[in-house]
Amino acid sequence: MKWSFRIATIAGTEVRIHATFFLLLLFVAMQSMGNGHGLSGAIEGVVLVLAMFTCVLLHEFGHVLSARLYGIHTPDITLLPIGGVARLERMPRKPAHELVVAICGPLVNVAIAGAIAFFLGVSARFDPEFKFGDGAQFWAQLVQWNMMMVMFNMVPAFPMDGGRVLRAFLAMMMDYGKATRLAATIGQGIAMLVFIGMLLSGSFNPFMMLIAIFIFIAAGQEAAMVTQQEATRDLLVRDAMLTDFRALRSTDVLRDAVDHLLAGAQHDFPMLDDRGSMVGMLSRTSLISALAEHGPGCPAERVIDRCDDVLAPAQPLAEALERLTASPCPALPVVDPLSGRLIGLLTAENIAEVLMVRAALARRP
Ligand SMILES: [Zn+2]
Repeated sequence: MKWSFRIATIAGTEVRIHATFFLLLLFVAMQSMGNGHGLSGAIEGVVLVLAMFTCVLLHEFGHVLSARLYGIHTPDITLLPIGGVARLERMPRKPAHELVVAICGPLVNVAIAGAIAFFLGVSARFDPEFKFGDGAQFWAQLVQWNMMMVMFNMVPAFPMDGGRVLRAFLAMMMDYGKATRLAATIGQGIAMLVFIGMLLSGSFNPFMMLIAIFIFIAAGQEAAMVTQQEATRDLLVRDAMLTDFRALRSTDVLRDAVDHLLAGAQHDFPMLDDRGSMVGMLSRTSLISALAEHGPGCPAERVIDRCDDVLAPAQPLAEALERLTASPCPALPVVDPLSGRLIGLLTAENIAEVLMVRAALARRP
């Protein structure tokens, strides 16, 4: 994620903090100082936010470590002002495994709240009237925060953990694609009810409305992604890759790349060395911004993007699609494992075309 900094690597997973998080700390410190609590109030406010985000981090590690039980690694976790995002390599496909991974996050918060309540005698009852910002109740605030995290995350809608729990239960009774679509529809229904309920009651909470819209969109995306994965089942990378493509040589300048761009429908160009091995990719976005900055005479090699993710022709397309979605490169190179030569490019556009062709053939009586 852009604008995020690595702060630590724990058990092989990078922990990153988004720059806007520091703005949140500054905001809390200034607000606490402004409330007449002075410098000590500001420090207390910041310490509370840091403690809250430690709970978010532990929640994410609940997912990360349980996923590791099933051989799924997590390259990084990013902490944002709105919460944490653990980027798991993939989601477990077995419903029972997904259930465990999804539930282990909220379970961590239950454990934290329970431990504070048990050892410090703080009430672990959720109090809807509770207001954050009273420095005297540090532990009570932390308990409330963990309870809120559990309730928020257990809402049965994607991308919340509750949505995954719901899908896992449904997938035990029906096939995975159907379960995902049903879970997504339920989630979208909940989001719509919340939205309409707020409109009708007149209790206009812009933050909640934004969350409802966000959930509505994310649920649709999850369903679309799984439908696409289903459609690409039993297809290989070689079935969908672009084989008729233009490539740049390492001596080319940006003007040559523009010629290629205008000559055909290809948007992203691999750069090859004399032996036909990949050096990198030049995407249309990079080409256009480099043109504005350096002019057409600039060597293309200076502005190409490294593309470390390389596909093999015999790889399952569904897996390649996941990597393409996760990659910053808009096109992934397909390399022959024996010769090391570039033999194709995989783009989202090409995959969409293959799926259209497949759907058309399936409609034939
Ligand atoms: Zn979670």
